[in-house]
Amino acid sequence: MSLKSLAELAEAPISVLRTAERALRAPGHVKQARTRADALEQMGVRSVLDLLTHYPRRYLDRTSQVPISELQEGDEATVLAVVRRVHRLPARRGAKPVVMVDVWDERSYLALSFFNQPWRAQTLREGLEVAVSGKVTTFRGRRQMSNPSVEIVEGEWKGRVVPIYPQSEKAGISSMEIGGCIAEALEWAGELEDPVPTPALREHDFASRHWSIRQVHQPESVAAKNAARRRLGFDELLRLQLVLVMRKRAVERESKGIAHEVGSDLVARFREGLPFPLTGAQERAIGEIEADLGKPVPMHRLLQGDVGAGKTLVALWCLLTAVAGGYQGALMAPTEVLAEQHHMSVTALLSGLSVPDSGSLWGERGVRVELLTNRTTASERATLLTALARGEVDLVVGTHALLTESVRFERLGMVVIDEQHRFGVEQRSALREKADGPVPDVLVMTATPIPRTAAMTVYGDLDTTVLDELPPGRTPVGTVWARGPLDVEAAWQTVIAEISEGHQAYVVCPLVEESERVQAVSASDELARLATGPLHGLRLGLLHGQLPSREKEAVMSQFRSGELQVLVATTVIEVGVDVPNATVMVIEDADRFGIAQLHQLRGRVGRGAARSWCYLLGDAPTPEGAARLAALERTNDGFELAEVDLDLRGEGTILGTRQKGVNDLKLASLRRHRKYVALAREVAFDIVDADPILAAHPGLARELRALVDDDDREYLFKS
Ligand code: ADP
Ligand code: MG
Repeated sequence: MSLKSLAELAEAPISVLRTAERALRAPGHVKQARTRADALEQMGVRSVLDLLTHYPRRYLDRTSQVPISELQEGDEATVLAVVRRVHRLPARRGAKPVVMVDVWDERSYLALSFFNQPWRAQTLREGLEVAVSGKVTTFRGRRQMSNPSVEIVEGEWKGRVVPIYPQSEKAGISSMEIGGCIAEALEWAGELEDPVPTPALREHDFASRHWSIRQVHQPESVAAKNAARRRLGFDELLRLQLVLVMRKRAVERESKGIAHEVGSDLVARFREGLPFPLTGAQERAIGEIEADLGKPVPMHRLLQGDVGAGKTLVALWCLLTAVAGGYQGALMAPTEVLAEQHHMSVTALLSGLSVPDSGSLWGERGVRVELLTNRTTASERATLLTALARGEVDLVVGTHALLTESVRFERLGMVVIDEQHRFGVEQRSALREKADGPVPDVLVMTATPIPRTAAMTVYGDLDTTVLDELPPGRTPVGTVWARGPLDVEAAWQTVIAEISEGHQAYVVCPLVEESERVQAVSASDELARLATGPLHGLRLGLLHGQLPSREKEAVMSQFRSGELQVLVATTVIEVGVDVPNATVMVIEDADRFGIAQLHQLRGRVGRGAARSWCYLLGDAPTPEGAARLAALERTNDGFELAEVDLDLRGEGTILGTRQKGVNDLKLASLRRHRKYVALAREVAFDIVDADPILAAHPGLARELRALVDDDDREYLFKS
């Protein structure tokens, strides 16, 4: 008999199972579903593979159940018991129907009351064994639970560790009925193929897949189900990493890149002209990147660094390396404000630098840097596009506008993408594809660090460089979570004190979700309140996204010159704004912002040598909000905050939906299984580097083909 592969299980509909066609035991409360198959389908389970990867939400260990007699009032508990009496209270007019059920565990009774669930009277019959979960209350000395969740345990399940399947009540199918279908599916599946190379499994002590898929559903013991979940979770991570690693290697194999000339005269002059020495981390990062740039293989690299670590300089270094060889460079930023800021700092860093130019009188000209955003006027744009297409522009800084069809380059050689809200994989490649000839090198930067495991997943097709050191002379920002009126008062006092010392301050207005316009209105209200209240007598300016760009620029230059002492702003200042004399920031309603955003905002101060402060205003109404603010108070380290963020929010929100494979992570978690993410990546590299299109691993190849879409399939497995 041949072994079945996951791909075959994915192709088999659940209708191959006889049990699936059975009528539901308690179809009363869900109208559409008649059979188990109907109910499963409502839960998104269509194939045998879907069914076998519909993993238990939790397990009840019969051997370690708390007896009813030991339950305390207020406990959240699950008990195993037998139904002894079911009683429908006579319906009184206007009152909800109530079903009262007594259960007992051979020693004590527990009273259950179900409000508005009349169908309970049919499904819970005397003598049934059930697992009941809920909060324990007492009434007249009797232990009871209101509207507990109930699983019928008896009948199809005899094991000691009972699997409880997700959402079963809602779809009208009980956990035990699902278990019954799964039992048949396991039988139907027979022996399963295990395509993961044995040395890797043995080295890391993973159980076989065949054993694991059985034990995850029908565990012999708690330890066995843990081992099973560990193995199956690892497989999920491995499949994801294999796709990413194969994609990475395919790009390297398929495309011809540019061997840039590293250590050019232009870059050497740029370095000499810098007002500061590079940090050790910048040296290291540049070293890693230059090694890539010099090779004829396109670079795909992620540059991670904390706020203020000096990523822009590293990016510019790359861009200049391309320019030195006669190529053009593009820097894409997520917002207009940031693009403008980059354009300004790049122009400043390059002033006085020239490139050879045979056409000019002096035989050289300045490096030409241009800006392209949606605010660029039509005529400026036309001129710029012509110059870009002719190769007369060396560097272009811009927003998404760079991706427009009409933007053409003559010789695009280097692309830097500064991501804040994450451009998609497609957008990253869209810019790269603007080169007609060899594929440009790509450097992706994140505004704030993201956790290592997330980077390995979201950016798993990229290599990573980390800038783990701030330029010297920075003092950590003293951060205070101002929880009450006295703390808030102290925050404004600090603002006034710093300003009297000649420093400047930011006030970040509360986040308003409705619209940019409403946000702008609320920011100007806040300015008025501060000007007549706590910051009376100071020179305040207002910055928000609705201001015309000329006005925005005017406000920024007044703030930069010190004419304005306080900048009251929306989150438009989150990115790029760089005024080292600003030493205090007050963030209002801070609990409404995410960790990364607060950290990025805070990064606007502490840019000079003077001690800086950040006040987070607002009492966090949720424990999660409190944990966020406390974390910011505790540390200035963006990498550490990124991990806290992952712990608090879970992976979904951090990764977004853009990484397809992440949806296949049912057991594995980037958060709880950090170690296994790294291990899976390591194993994936070992496998792919020895066997790039998995010719010697047909089982794995089959499995991955089933996971990815047509285009990827074509691309990844092409030799
Ligand atoms: P980020 O990594 O957040 O993008 P930036 O590139 O904006 O950081 O740099 C932050 C500030 O640090 C800028 O003002 C930049 O000029 C300055 N800077 C960068 N590298 C160095 C260095 N080696 N020494 C001193 N200052 C530096
Ligand atoms: Mg930056």
